[in-house]
Amino acid sequence: MLFDTHAHLNVKQFAEDEAEVIQRAKDHGVSRIAVVGFDHETIAKALELSKTYKGIYPMVGWHPTEAGSYSDEVEEKLIKLIQIENIVAMGEMGLDYHWMEDPKEVQIESFRRQIRVAKELKLPITIHNRDSTEDVYRVLKEEHVEDIGGIMHSFNLTPEWQERFLNLGMHISYSGVLTFKNAPEVKESAKRVPLDKVLIETDSPYLSPMPYRGKRNEPSYVRFVAEEFAELREMPLEEIAKITTHNANKLFNLMEE
Ligand SMILES: [Zn+2]
Repeated sequence: MLFDTHAHLNVKQFAEDEAEVIQRAKDHGVSRIAVVGFDHETIAKALELSKTYKGIYPMVGWHPTEAGSYSDEVEEKLIKLIQIENIVAMGEMGLDYHWMEDPKEVQIESFRRQIRVAKELKLPITIHNRDSTEDVYRVLKEEHVEDIGGIMHSFNLTPEWQERFLNLGMHISYSGVLTFKNAPEVKESAKRVPLDKVLIETDSPYLSPMPYRGKRNEPSYVRFVAEEFAELREMPLEEIAKITTHNANKLFNLMEE
């Protein structure tokens, strides 16, 4: 069984066929999917999906490209949801200096505030990092993320950076990027990552793995990420499936199936 630890089944690209997509995932052995909410609309939909389908686990947070709208009101809403719903992690949160929708200081502020909420409520966090590695690292370290741990989502950095994030107690989650030919450093990091710290994800509908690169991604494709990882580690796929699913269940505090 596989666990897709990061998917956005809660966005418009899946509005027409979410049931089929979830069924297809199950048919391919993907029995659990973490659906990530990052603003009002996607949070509501993530919660709805988790109540409609078995094996869907919601995460809630405020995306760095939405940092300007993070407010006391938003924070209170997140806290309330975490207290009453079965939320497995907080996120995605982090920094995005590629789109730079809001100034760095604004992004860093909403990032820090969310980490503090997660620590208060004892939930792991999921990190979005785009062209902002230095600052993400600094904030995680300053806020002592090791108390709760979390996920470097869609990891696409060097083995050296991986080492640094691992030292902060973070998990490393590989997406379809691992299957890309032009990602030798990511493949190298996958060869070295401790097996008790590795997770797999799709980031659907984005980042489709080979051979579907460029098409809409979906959770059933997480098997391509698992296959690539198994090949890099020269281990059987079943073993990789078992390990990554166990890691996800443990981090998200879920019972094994
Ligand atoms: Zn995401």
